[in-house]
Amino acid sequence: MNKLETIEQVRKYVGEARKAGRRIGFVPTMGALHEGHRSLMRAARAACDEVIVSIFVNPTQFGPGEDFERYPRPLEADLAACREEGVGAAFCPSVAEMYPPDSVTTVTVSRLTEGLCGAHRPGHFNGVTTVVTKLFNIVQPDVAFFGQKDAQQAAVIRRMVRDLCMPVEIVVCPTVREPDGLAISSRNSYLSAGERAQALSLSAALRWAEAQVRAGQRDVESLVREMRRQIDAAGPCGIDYIEIVDADDLRPKAVVEGRCLIALAVRIGNTRLIDNMVVEG
Ligand code: AMP
Repeated sequence: MNKLETIEQVRKYVGEARKAGRRIGFVPTMGALHEGHRSLMRAARAACDEVIVSIFVNPTQFGPGEDFERYPRPLEADLAACREEGVGAAFCPSVAEMYPPDSVTTVTVSRLTEGLCGAHRPGHFNGVTTVVTKLFNIVQPDVAFFGQKDAQQAAVIRRMVRDLCMPVEIVVCPTVREPDGLAISSRNSYLSAGERAQALSLSAALRWAEAQVRAGQRDVESLVREMRRQIDAAGPCGIDYIEIVDADDLRPKAVVEGRCLIALAVRIGNTRLIDNMVVEG
């Protein structure tokens, strides 16, 4: 497993892989690697000859007062996880390598980034689309793997790749959960035992809504009202949003029809958690 720190090293590594005719899979991450990330690496291994993982806590996707400084950075354990999953190279650039001080170019996806998390984290998706574009240009993968856990991010990147004719296939892999239903996240490590127990209300509310839709409930307002009640009842929290939107274009729905995304973001203590489920109405 190769640890690469500069753009030049990645270009050389990828150039050789490409010359050998290898299909390149790419998994962008912010590190603190867990089973969710590992599932993306395994999907990449299964579909590609060469897997490259990036580990970069991207400052431009954090807002003021968010957790950029305290975000976990267990680099040695992350490199071991990459090695275990058969990753060929981990790209671990510094902030200076990714953002020369005179950078003035960003990538913006409009509309899809305005609702859901975009409404609560101004600038977040600009940071994401800019860094992902840069990483795609550095790695030039054939396929890139993202998690459904960050459903809005996946939809935004799919649209960006389509709109800008980027020559990369996007694969979105299912959310990996703990046995009790909690969506796995690097940020779960911030939760106290009590907060973690409370956080189960998020996946429980999503499962409840999914069962309601299966049973024929189609009214978004009443689904969202009851989910809000259940999450509030679990303990003190701040609900940023609970919404039901079209799964592809993220437009709000009044009635569950077609592929819909039930998405939520909830703050428990100092930790902001997101989760979602796709339902078919
Ligand atoms: P992050 O390191 O949080 O930026 O996540 C890197 C990638 O892993 C993103 O595509 C996430 O959607 C994905 N990911 C994070 N958590 C999970 C999970 N529990 N299940 C599946 N994918 C995940």
